[in-house]
This record gives sequence, C-alpha cells and structure tokens, in this order.
Amino acid sequence: MSPTLADKQREFTRLIAMLIDFAYSRSYAFTFGEAYRTPEQAALNAKNGTGIANSLHTQRLAIDLNLFKAGKYCSDSRDYEPLGKYWESLSTPEFECCWGGRFRKPDGNHFSISHNGIK
Ligand SMILES: [Zn+2]
Repeated sequence: MSPTLADKQREFTRLIAMLIDFAYSRSYAFTFGEAYRTPEQAALNAKNGTGIANSLHTQRLAIDLNLFKAGKYCSDSRDYEPLGKYWESLSTPEFECCWGGRFRKPDGNHFSISHNGIK
C-alpha cells in the first residue's frame, strides 16, 4: 500500500532530522527558513513568479534551510550540493526525496518529498 499524505509528512520530518544531523557532522550549520506555507501565500508567490500555487510547502512536505559553512552564509545553490545529494540518497520506493538544486530554476535550500507528481 502506498503511503498516505500523513505518512509522508511524518517521514519527511524524521528524514529532515537526519539531514540536519548529517550537515552538522560535516561542519555545516542551518537556520530554518520556510517550512509550512499557507495556500494563500503560495497563490501570491505564484502570482509574483516566486513559487508555485501547489507548492509542497502547503502540504508540509517541504522545507527551506539556510546553509552556513564556517559561520558564513552560503546563498549559492551549488553550495548545497553535498547536502542535496545526501538528501536524495535517503529516498526509498515509497518516499522520493527531492532537492531543489535540481529544479529548472535552482532552489538549493529547498528539500521535499514528492507527492502527486510534485517535487
Ligand atoms: Zn521551498
């Protein structure tokens, strides 16, 4: 049986803990960016061209994490690559871990679990 949305939300949270642990064990650090986003905000972002209306943030299946290395904020998507690759490696047949660094318009600080074809 395929996992429900609630199953995915709970697994997503557990896997994000692993990602955070992995990052800190390699001398990276994070601060929290956006996790849950209201449908109203997502619609506004879509209108402004800064996001999509059906964002996985509205389903509690995505988080934006701000990356730091040696105390310095890393804003380039490429800086996130080792963490993006680790995140993707956590994928299983039931839970597809997607990294925003692979998006057409790279969004390196975005980590999600796919749902209904959305990443
Ligand atoms: Zn995001």
